[in-house]
Amino acid sequence: MALGGRGVPVAPPAHDFPYLRAYSESLRQQVAALMAQEDGLAALLRRKYPHAHTVRTDKALYHYTSALKSRHLRNADAVNKVVFDSKIHVVRHALGLHTAVSRVQGGRLAAKHEIRIAAMFKQVPEEFLRMIVVHELAHLREREHNKAFYQLCEHMEPAYHQYELDVRLYLTHLEHTGPRLWQADLAVAE
Ligand SMILES: [Zn+2]
Repeated sequence: MALGGRGVPVAPPAHDFPYLRAYSESLRQQVAALMAQEDGLAALLRRKYPHAHTVRTDKALYHYTSALKSRHLRNADAVNKVVFDSKIHVVRHALGLHTAVSRVQGGRLAAKHEIRIAAMFKQVPEEFLRMIVVHELAHLREREHNKAFYQLCEHMEPAYHQYELDVRLYLTHLEHTGPRLWQADLAVAE
């Protein structure tokens, strides 16, 4: 880390936070200040989310997603496939991918929906997994990231925006070469 004039650590510049572009400058400055402290951001995230989720396989992920869908979006199109995908590089907004392939079935146009979740979500708290799954499910109804889309996300998970911010804080931590904070099935040692 660079040192300021009087030997004071200088936080990384706020424009170094690609995952936080949609947030205010003052929030980015708070994050920079936290990251300038030893273990500041990491400790905050671990305190808030002590445990990793236990959704280990694509099959378990499919069941997890189906349960959320049947609770909140029963009438939306069926989801045909849900997988963790190690080829999704989590850059900018691409935390997950939703694809709909339209094809004619019995004289009707039917969409086959596939949800791919970046593999890094295998080793995160359940709240982070829920956020990304809710996000991809909301795309069954709304293609764009518009107001209706985010209302649907909040309907499925009232803390959606908080979890999305915390996911982005974690990605920021990882990007600044921070270690992974959670391991599957293990609580983080205090
Ligand atoms: Zn999206």
